[in-house]
Amino acid sequence: MYQADEKRYEEMKYNRCGASGLLLPAVSLGLWHNFGSNGNFDNMLDMCHTAFDHGITHFDLANNYGPVYGAAEENFGRILKKDLGVYRDELVISTKAGYDMWPGPYGNWGSKKYLVASLDQSLKRMGLDYVDIFYHHRPDPNTPLEETVRALDGIVKSGKALYVGISNYNKEQTIAAAELFKELGTPFIINQRKYSMFVRDIEKDGLKDYAAAHGIGIITFSPLAQGLLTDRYLHGIPEDSRVRTDGRFLKEAAIVEETLKKVRALNDLASQRGQTLAQMALSWILRDGDITSVLIGASKPSQILDNIGIVNATSFSDEERRKIEEILA
Ligand code: NDP
Repeated sequence: MYQADEKRYEEMKYNRCGASGLLLPAVSLGLWHNFGSNGNFDNMLDMCHTAFDHGITHFDLANNYGPVYGAAEENFGRILKKDLGVYRDELVISTKAGYDMWPGPYGNWGSKKYLVASLDQSLKRMGLDYVDIFYHHRPDPNTPLEETVRALDGIVKSGKALYVGISNYNKEQTIAAAELFKELGTPFIINQRKYSMFVRDIEKDGLKDYAAAHGIGIITFSPLAQGLLTDRYLHGIPEDSRVRTDGRFLKEAAIVEETLKKVRALNDLASQRGQTLAQMALSWILRDGDITSVLIGASKPSQILDNIGIVNATSFSDEERRKIEEILA
């Protein structure tokens, strides 16, 4: 029978999520890949145990994580039921709706009709009464933002989510949503955006600075560019890598010499810092102290252990920052 490590809170750091009362671990675990119906259940279980044993309290899901859609929530529900659920009050579980989930006009985007039904389905799959954070997964250009915001507010009032978040909203969209949430008094606390050394949109659109200055938490997904910003592809494409095991989103075509050249140079710099490349890429995201949490994915427990190693190594000298910009330029 699994018993969580007594020392689980000794190494992890917890950052305040925006201006809220909620603390999130500096490293959170996402279940987008490797938790679907094609995954190995024992490995999933092992990864969740490893994460929680080392202070990763936050597990991130979405309605359609799989394959098949819903499978990651179902598998996480099995894990909760098997043993992790005993620790429910120590866990921050999030899910989302906003992308294609079921056929017809009510299984996608941002209507109240979709969001309410989707969360009910998610709760059933996970065997939960509530999630800690419920996200609108992406902006919907055709539904009035007021409707989406009111739907999320109603969901909190119904007790099915404690906090709400938005994902893939740019700075302007975030400001617009935040104003509406403020009018309603909704506990809107976080935006989930893609951010890595290779994808710097939140710097360019100004969200990174804005959120930090205005009490909005930011959790960053694909911080390792799905594995590109690691040593994974330095010597070919391993059979157990994402490109080979589940190339729906990270395709072989992404492994090109121009990218590998940067990855090699970054890998050398990471060694000089005494880190793996994965660690340096994650540390870099937390370098300015304005990102609440890096949301990693993993295919094995050892990667989670490697990634947790960054917690006390997130500062960069001016020289290191300069070198990184030079490599990425
Ligand atoms: P990452 O960029 O962290 O990529 C994870 C992959 O990197 C792993 O599967 C593994 O690849 C590799 N990896 C991880 N750690 C190491 C290590 N230490 N050494 C070597 N390789 C390593 O994140 P994801 O793209 O998986 O996204 C993370 C989470 O973000 C998702 O699970 C989801 O919760 C969220 N997300 C949200 C989105 C949104 O729209 N809101 C969109 C996408 C993701 P391999 O399998 O090859 O071993």
